[in-house]
Amino acid sequence: MRSAVIVGAGAFGASLAWRLARAGIDVTLVDQFEPGDPRTTSGGESRLIRCGHGPDRDYAASARRARTLWRELEDESGEELLIECGLTWFAHRDDGWEALTIPVFEELGIPYRRLAPEAGAELFPSYSPAGLEFLLHEPEAGVLRAQRAVRALARQAGAHGARLVRGVAQPERDAVRLDDGRVLEADVVVWACGAWLGRLFGEHVAIRSTCQELFFFDGGPAWAADGVPAYVDFEQAIYGTRDIDGLGVKAAPDFDGPPLEPDADLPPASAEGEALARGFLGARFPALARAPLAGSKCCRYELSPDAHFVAAPHPEHPSVWLLGGGSGHGFKHGPALAEQLAPALAGAEPPPARFALGRRGAAGMLRTGGAT
Ligand SMILES: Cc1cc2nc3c(=O)[nH]c(=O)nc-3n(C[C@H](O)[C@H](O)[C@H](O)COP(=O)(O)OP(=O)(O)OC[C@H]3O[C@@H](n4cnc5c(N)ncnc54)[C@H](O)[C@@H]3O)c2cc1C
Repeated sequence: MRSAVIVGAGAFGASLAWRLARAGIDVTLVDQFEPGDPRTTSGGESRLIRCGHGPDRDYAASARRARTLWRELEDESGEELLIECGLTWFAHRDDGWEALTIPVFEELGIPYRRLAPEAGAELFPSYSPAGLEFLLHEPEAGVLRAQRAVRALARQAGAHGARLVRGVAQPERDAVRLDDGRVLEADVVVWACGAWLGRLFGEHVAIRSTCQELFFFDGGPAWAADGVPAYVDFEQAIYGTRDIDGLGVKAAPDFDGPPLEPDADLPPASAEGEALARGFLGARFPALARAPLAGSKCCRYELSPDAHFVAAPHPEHPSVWLLGGGSGHGFKHGPALAEQLAPALAGAEPPPARFALGRRGAAGMLRTGGAT
């Protein structure tokens, strides 16, 4: 492979552009928007990076590898993109997702601490252990500055010679037609179109786009301190972060939201969502029960049926690849997924079977238990 056109400069496409351009491949990266636009799934300020994936070894290894690659991007770009504040899982059972994660961490040598519920008082400024069996703490997990990271990926791809093109693209057999009439051709064409992937290639991939709500609360200076970890409550399907960059303490209910077309405007977040987030925070972090709302918003998930990514050649055009299905957990993996796919795009290895096109079973659980 000497040349590639990648349509979509989100976490997946921009990571691939960075990877291939660094390897000396002639890359053209096309997007209809500025990378990190809030209408895309990679927009927004923050994304969790954690290795815990229950019993799934491959995603754990991928997230661990991605941490190294995000650090390389920081070195190249001079930006601070990964905040290694740690991440704490709240385990309600002794035999749940968190317990299944531990043997994988042991096998892969991923640092973790299994803590008594009460130990949370040393991690969080305000905390109640009610209902918890234990805590699983990942000290080297944390938060990625998402929009800045995706912009850095695209910029660094450019620094390695990639051409960044703004335009709306349509597939034309194994080529790419832009809305200004230009036709782009390359040895490999990759459609990494997030929520739009299902609309462009609906006969091959089933991507569901949903509306997800985020809430930010003013917790005061204690919640802006460096050492306060991110958190995930897998069973209660909610996750969040400390106050990062003055945005407020984040609480994001993770149940699959209502359908939202890729081009539809993002609606405001709902009062019901705020009540749910507040209910959780008040119970787990009591001092936040009445914290003022500092902000709220909606963004969109692009969900594959089983929560596994999509990365496979088009059945009729073998040089055309479809890449997406981040399913609410894809961001962190971007650079590691690109590294994994590069040999497959070059024809040197088969792509991972779990990322194949075709029918898939029911939703898996790879972010929280909120997937319906
Ligand atoms: C609220 C929320 C929270 C999340 N939390 C986490 C988390 O904590 N950790 C984590 O790892 N992941 C998380 N995710 C998931 C992660 O953000 C996504 O899986 C990932 O960003 C997907 O990236 P992408 O490149 O596939 O899609 P996108 O970012 O949507 O990129 C697709 C790009 O393709 C472009 N495009 C589409 N069609 C065309 C066209 N025809 N022509 C030109 N350009 C086109 C779009 O403009 C867009 O820029 C979260 C997602 C959301 C929404």
